[in-house]
Amino acid sequence: MTKYFGTNGARGTFKQLTPEIALMIAQAVGIYLKRKKILVARDMRLTSDVLWHAIVSGLLSVGCDVVDLGMVPSPTAEFILKKMKAGGLIIITASHNPPEYNGIKVVDGAGVAVSRERAEEIERLMERPQHAEWDKIGKLTHYGRAIDDHIDAIIQHINVEKIRRRKPRLVLDCGNGMASLIAPRLFKNLGCDVILLNSDVDGHFPGRPSEPTAENVKRMLSLVHDEKADAGIAWDGDADRVAFADERGEYVIGDKVFALSVLLKLKEKKGNVVSTVATSLAIDEIANMYGSKVIYTKIGAPYLSEEISKGNAVIAGEEVGGVIWPEISLAKEGIFTAAKIVEAICEKPLSEWLKEVPDYKNIKEKIPADEKMKKEVVERARRHAQENNLSFIDIDGVRINLEDGWVIVRASGTENYVRIFAEAKTEERAREILNKYKSIVVLSNL
Ligand code: MG
Repeated sequence: MTKYFGTNGARGTFKQLTPEIALMIAQAVGIYLKRKKILVARDMRLTSDVLWHAIVSGLLSVGCDVVDLGMVPSPTAEFILKKMKAGGLIIITASHNPPEYNGIKVVDGAGVAVSRERAEEIERLMERPQHAEWDKIGKLTHYGRAIDDHIDAIIQHINVEKIRRRKPRLVLDCGNGMASLIAPRLFKNLGCDVILLNSDVDGHFPGRPSEPTAENVKRMLSLVHDEKADAGIAWDGDADRVAFADERGEYVIGDKVFALSVLLKLKEKKGNVVSTVATSLAIDEIANMYGSKVIYTKIGAPYLSEEISKGNAVIAGEEVGGVIWPEISLAKEGIFTAAKIVEAICEKPLSEWLKEVPDYKNIKEKIPADEKMKKEVVERARRHAQENNLSFIDIDGVRINLEDGWVIVRASGTENYVRIFAEAKTEERAREILNKYKSIVVLSNL
């Protein structure tokens, strides 16, 4: 059985993810989702149109009716899935990957993205393609109001008056991605004074690489400073992830965006928080302050969606700056996250808010390892924790909780690496923890 799906859908360059393969994936997805009505959305990548035709054809051929949402951000498509109560959704996007990549993300009718484990069933179905009879082929319709509906829903869940009164000045860096189609409209509509950067959709990504790292959004940071803006906001290619600049033009890293989102959420509504085992202790500290609990999942957005779909938490997120707000959808929502933080900065500056977020430093390292070594290394971490009576979580790799931080040792599912992350109050201490565990679990192996 060929593997096409990774942690979050099928991804590859156009040579790997061809229209032929996309058609086969879509046929299998149609059967997996019980031939129900499926929504299809796409981003602005140069290969999205050709893959769109293959995917729509695949779905129709097995008997699914298809509603085309057109070119829309991922969070918009996920919101419409919930609103229309369709049987599933396919999003054609490679998120923050380089321009030559594309991807197929599959979401079920409950709004939960299909994880690698669940995708194995789709890969099995690909081995026996089954067409519908000629008179059972699906129908294709188009829905053109997805972005308008999404904007309306966001506006219903924020304090519009508070933003209109304060009129914050914002630099919006859409990275030539899908945020271009919604963020300028939304924030102008809210009465913000908006300065646009890289805000025309363009599959060549001429403005900057798609991932909103500090390095990639430098122009946004200096514009915030030079234009005396209240904040800068930068999205990844499909707008499910967001990074910020505070009013001084300082980059705000993804895990702080998540931590601040948790703080804002718990201030208005009590409840548990869902996060992955690689998430900062800042989240635990904030949850503790409000008497809430953190529920840990494996690393990867589909696991967060699976957990929050059970209805036992008020917010979910991961350390790279993807936040799930169940009032909108069960997927990472870069647009709503941005709106909530803009609402907050109408009260006090972003740098002031961030003082309420406990400060931790995180260090990451990846070490080349083959399949056998990957297993040994993770096993060694578990044994070390057991023998030394350390508290640990082993739902995805082994995370060992220390008195002043934690370390996680984890085998990559798709690449030949073992990853080690360590976190502590200072960078020196995080480095010290990382080196210590590296020597315990890895070095003796080489
Ligand atoms: Mg993304």
